[in-house]
Amino acid sequence: MKNICFDLCAIPLYILILFTCRIRGMTRGRANRLFLMVNGMSLACAILDIWMEFTVNPLPLSRGAVALGTAISFAYKFLRNASIVIYFIYIFTATRTEYRLQPLKNRLFLWLPDGVLVVLLLQNFFTHNVYVITAEGGYARGPLLWLVYAIAFLYVVVGIAYCLYCKRYLIASKWIALISVYALTLVSVLMQMLNQQLMVELFASAIGVLMVLLLIMRPEETIDGTVVVQGWKAYQRMLDYILKGNQHVQIVVVKMMNAEEIRSYIGDKAFHDYVMEVAAEIDKLYYELHTHIDLYFERPGSFYLIIEDAKLDVKSLVPSFVERTTRRVRRFAEQGVHFEPKFCIIRCPEDLKEYQEILNVGHLFTRLGDPNQTVYDAAELVHLRDYDVINHMQEILNSAITGKTLEMFYQPIYDIHAGRFRSAEALARIRDPQYGMVSPALFIPEAEKTGLIIPLGNLILESVYRFISKADMEALGLSYVEINLSVAQCLQQDLPATVARLQARYGIKPSQVNFEITETMFDNLSEVMDRNLRELVRMGYSFSLDDYGIGYSNIHRLSKLPLEIIKIDKSLVDEMFTEDGQVIIRNTVRMMQDIHKELVVEGVETRDEMEALAAMSCDFIQGYYYSKPLPPDDFVRFLQARNRAA
Ligand code: C2E
Ligand code: MG
Ligand code: MG
Repeated sequence: MKNICFDLCAIPLYILILFTCRIRGMTRGRANRLFLMVNGMSLACAILDIWMEFTVNPLPLSRGAVALGTAISFAYKFLRNASIVIYFIYIFTATRTEYRLQPLKNRLFLWLPDGVLVVLLLQNFFTHNVYVITAEGGYARGPLLWLVYAIAFLYVVVGIAYCLYCKRYLIASKWIALISVYALTLVSVLMQMLNQQLMVELFASAIGVLMVLLLIMRPEETIDGTVVVQGWKAYQRMLDYILKGNQHVQIVVVKMMNAEEIRSYIGDKAFHDYVMEVAAEIDKLYYELHTHIDLYFERPGSFYLIIEDAKLDVKSLVPSFVERTTRRVRRFAEQGVHFEPKFCIIRCPEDLKEYQEILNVGHLFTRLGDPNQTVYDAAELVHLRDYDVINHMQEILNSAITGKTLEMFYQPIYDIHAGRFRSAEALARIRDPQYGMVSPALFIPEAEKTGLIIPLGNLILESVYRFISKADMEALGLSYVEINLSVAQCLQQDLPATVARLQARYGIKPSQVNFEITETMFDNLSEVMDRNLRELVRMGYSFSLDDYGIGYSNIHRLSKLPLEIIKIDKSLVDEMFTEDGQVIIRNTVRMMQDIHKELVVEGVETRDEMEALAAMSCDFIQGYYYSKPLPPDDFVRFLQARNRAA
């Protein structure tokens, strides 16, 4: 009888690996499935190996033992070889080159040796030329057994060669883990040849697979779903490998513009389903294009695709992709949810080769260039003025919070009933010595993301309070100034205290300030925020809802917040003279009047728009038609001239 100790040790190892995969949720997705198959098959082989020893010992054997031994040996050889083939396929998945196995010819080459092996094993039942089990002699090798080994050897050699070839796609630890399974198997087979009693092969390969589990299979990089989509961390890591390895790829960023609204509208669960449908459609591209595509997901609604084929004309694929995805998520359309993606194509390293730049462009491309375009090309974006700005945003923000580069502009708001300008909106600007005038559309979202919005917001408050205290509000005809508040600011426990301090320091009245908040507040309505808003209202401040019309506000939602003014977003004004747009704006105006809210319409640029809105008896109009946001001195002069004339 051979030494079965190593097989006995291999069994708990394989079970441990399978168990680990199960509890770490690594059961879905192709790579996980292949890995599980390799382990399952190897476990079965270890069990068969031990079973075989007890079946063919001691001699002489019964007829039943001969038949059982023959069957076990068949199953062992078949499974052992199959596990080697599956591992071979796994390597293609792990190196993101699985598409190479897609063409029929390659699949034939892949399975042909294994097919030969199966034929060989089947014919052995009649010819006994591979192995034979007899009652007196037990297990004996046949003249063709070498072919079984040769086939396994072939897969191993080609596998090793492929691992060597793929070295450039992988970091050292992953590459070593992949090849270790082969190396350990080869060494163990050599040991077995020297000492036939030592059954160490399956134990050695278990150690190799364990290395793969530890160094390659990382569930932290994935999120679950119908398709395995990897997360943001994984994207960053992959990007790093690609750049360091000088690989040529294309990165496509897909941003669902209305993701936040959709989520707050249909709920987290349905939103997740929706996103997974989109991901599944992207996944389909993989097979159609015969190239490898890695899919990464950054909440909410941002996808990153890394496409191996650097020459693929991605731009031309966009329309059909949008159409198919729209069809796929049709059932959500009934709930009012539309698929509104924007794409950014980055050729790497041709367009961009700096890690941070690629991340920045992925985040901010929709704020660059023409806001109406759907497909953005990184090659064009890099020539835009704001491109430098977004890549130095941190620097720009850091100097802004020292207070030296931040400026407040004021945009007058016209009161239709009074026939003069009665309020204004304070709008932040950064005048950077190096990058020029920076728009809040660029720096506010970034400040919100990095937390700098808190010091920046405090500076903004202080600056506006100072302005109000210095300006002769009454003489200018100004009742109040509107200040934009970010969600993060409203979540600060000490917001009312900060406001109270400024109010005392500059000696202004709460009625001289109105705070603008947006609908995203609804999604974040926490206890702190609720308390803050009510406290500010108690202090005498009023609130308005900014950007009405781009989210999913309804009357019920509006009634949850202490709002006096609703500001209609420019996008509704832009649609004003279309058939639908007219109905929407007319009804919105009427609805707001019915629930006794004052109405500011933003973004009015033409006389026609102004007159149409005046005819609907809107309350206030803000827009370039009257004035752009102005620096404080110009703003004061503007009011002096225009309000006096009125
Ligand atoms: P918002 O609060 O909706 O401000 C209105 C924006 O529309 C301003 O852009 C204003 O310049 C622009 N606008 C006004 N009338 C017209 C028009 O007739 N045509 C066009 N095309 N645009 C018009 P701005 O100043 O670039 O600010 C963009 C956004 O940045 C603001 O949108 C607001 O969300 C944010 N923001 C600006 N200043 C601050 C601030 O001090 N604090 C916070 N938290 N956010 C701010
Ligand atoms: Mg505003
Ligand atoms: Mg607005």
